[in-house]
Amino acid sequence: MLRGMNTASATHALQRLLEGNHRFVEDRLHRVPLGARLKEVAPAQAPFAAALGCSDSRVPAEIVFDCSLGDLFVVRNAGHVLSPSVVGSLEFAVLKLRVPLVVVLGHTRCGAIQAAIAAREGEPTAGSIGELIAGVRPAVQRVRALPGNLLSHAVTAHIEDTVAALRCGPVLGPLVEQGALKIVGARYDLDTGDAQLVA
Ligand SMILES: [Zn+2]
Repeated sequence: MLRGMNTASATHALQRLLEGNHRFVEDRLHRVPLGARLKEVAPAQAPFAAALGCSDSRVPAEIVFDCSLGDLFVVRNAGHVLSPSVVGSLEFAVLKLRVPLVVVLGHTRCGAIQAAIAAREGEPTAGSIGELIAGVRPAVQRVRALPGNLLSHAVTAHIEDTVAALRCGPVLGPLVEQGALKIVGARYDLDTGDAQLVA
C-alpha cells in the first residue's frame, strides 16, 4: 500500500467533493482568495482527489465541486474516454501525488455519447472523432435495447464502464483491491448542477 493513502482519506475526499457540489447547487460557493491560495500551492501541489471528466464547457470539475487552485488533479476529454495518456495521467496523480480518490465525472446529454449513438445509426464521423467515440460504443451497445431514453441510459452506462475499466487497470487495480484507492463515478445533471454517484 502506498504511504499516506488509505480508505479513510478516500472517504473524506469523496465527502469533500460531494459537500462542494452541494454548495455549488445551492449557489453558495466558498470564496477563497485566489492570490493567497496561489502563494500557498506554488511550491508543490497536493491535490486531495483526481477527476476524469468530459470537456463539455458546462462541466468544469473545479467549479461544480467548489474546489480551488491545487485541490483537484483534472483530466478531461470529450466523453471521458480512456487512452494511455488519460490512464497515465491518473496513475501519475495516484502514484506521484498520492491522490486517494479518482472520480469519473460524466453528465446528462453528453455530446460525445450522442455522437456515438448517431454514428451507430449511420451518421458519418470526421477526423479523429470516430476514434474518440469508439471508446463510448460499448456502453451504447449495452443499453440500446432498454426502454426509455437511450442517451440517458448510455451516459450512465459509460460512466460505469469507465470506472470498471479503471478499477481493473494493472497499476490502479491492485491499489483498489488493497483499499488504498477509491474510484467512483458521478453523473452531473446539466439542469440542476447536481452530481449523483452512480458507480
Ligand atoms: Zn460530454
